[in-house]
Amino acid sequence: MREINKVAVMGAGTMGSGIAAHCASKGLDVLLLDMPAKEGERNAIAAGAKARMREGRAPMLDEAADAERVSVGNFEDDLARAGEADLVIEAIVENLEAKRGLFERLEAVRRDGSILASNTSGIPLRDIAEGMPERLRRDIAVIHFFNPVKVMRLVELVPGADTSTEVVDSLDAFLSGRLEKGVVLAKDTVNFIANRIGCFWMLAGLVEGETALGQGVDLETMDAAMSAPVGVPATGLYGLIDLIGLDVLGLVASNLAENLPADDVGRACVALPAPIQAMLDAGQLGRKSGGGFYRMRKTDDGGRVREVYDHHTGAWRDGGQPALRAAEQDLAGLLFSDSAVGDFTWKVMGATLLYAADLVPEISDDIVGIDRAMRWGFAWKQGPFEMLDRLGPARVAARLDAEGRPLPAMLRILRDSGAESFYRGEGKEFLGTDGSWHPVR
Ligand code: NAD
Repeated sequence: MREINKVAVMGAGTMGSGIAAHCASKGLDVLLLDMPAKEGERNAIAAGAKARMREGRAPMLDEAADAERVSVGNFEDDLARAGEADLVIEAIVENLEAKRGLFERLEAVRRDGSILASNTSGIPLRDIAEGMPERLRRDIAVIHFFNPVKVMRLVELVPGADTSTEVVDSLDAFLSGRLEKGVVLAKDTVNFIANRIGCFWMLAGLVEGETALGQGVDLETMDAAMSAPVGVPATGLYGLIDLIGLDVLGLVASNLAENLPADDVGRACVALPAPIQAMLDAGQLGRKSGGGFYRMRKTDDGGRVREVYDHHTGAWRDGGQPALRAAEQDLAGLLFSDSAVGDFTWKVMGATLLYAADLVPEISDDIVGIDRAMRWGFAWKQGPFEMLDRLGPARVAARLDAEGRPLPAMLRILRDSGAESFYRGEGKEFLGTDGSWHPVR
């Protein structure tokens, strides 16, 4: 096992500064580098990021003293210092050539036995490592943190084809031990686990949302359905997209269009519905642009009203009360309801569960990794297979039979094995792809 005590973080943007602050809060010495400023103080970008670690309503650092562990610099003057670190984490702009260029320079200065990692959300590791020296290919992995780093528990650990077992084990121990993160082993597949499933859920939601709107279901009702009843945070679907930004979702969709396997069902929703694409083109992106599907308006008496955007007419209106029946307040009641909002939920959340059930072992060797990724990365109360257990897998399979649709892989394995659920023994054992029971690690 390799010891990791000194960390260098490349890139002092949202993620780089979050990762650096998190490492410092766990007592590690961190070097934080970014590009040299065009004029004035050369370390201004990284220094500014360090200064901001203590600001805002939810600061990245609770203790002022922890900031002292972060030293700053720039890629031109200080790369050799990064070469002394035990672990170098790259979190620069999501651009293949920029990342490859930086790793080439790091490889030239880093010490033997150090580990390299990329925080990329979507660039395949094989593309980053292609044609690189063998030492680099053995010593590199993706470690994919979630934003905000301090809050989100998930880190997806993705080895490349040549990454050594020692590097994978050392990163696993470091991330789960020293950094106290929830590590899920993922594969070098597009968007890894949580974003592969979570982005399908959002994009399918936008597509099916158009049908639901046509049936008279408003956005507030769709978001009320897609939150507490299904065990998803209160932002729901459109509210979460406002938070992430339509521009970011648009980039994710084009990355999926380029990299999803040819027969992947997610391909059906990689194009944003036309009126939503028009919002994106007009710069109505979400909270960062002052409003997306929702915005807050100050009233004369100092209060605040939430307004909802009608992306078909271009008009804003005051938000109303969502219309969910009492029986639709829980997962099964909603998914099996014959109402328009029930139909929407089945076609979005139901489809997401079925999508996940078809992605084992493509993106994760077992169902446990998928459930943890969705709980720790998207803050869902339960992962897809835990939800399927709550619904009753046989009931879901019967509905698919009735709709004349094939069962996704894991539901087929469950049926063939005679099992009644994906977990048993109070979650201590899970159903494997071999149709037998395995202990949950
Ligand atoms: P960001 O824009 O906040 O920061 C990127 C940093 O890269 C900036 O500080 C910038 O100065 C620097 N940079 C820009 N061009 C560069 C270049 N050519 N060479 C070197 N540095 C350059 O971005 P971010 O959101 O922190 O994302 C960083 C990485 O983390 C990306 O790979 C992204 O996909 C990934 N990621 C982002 C999130 C998220 O929610 N924002 C989550 C997980 C992973």
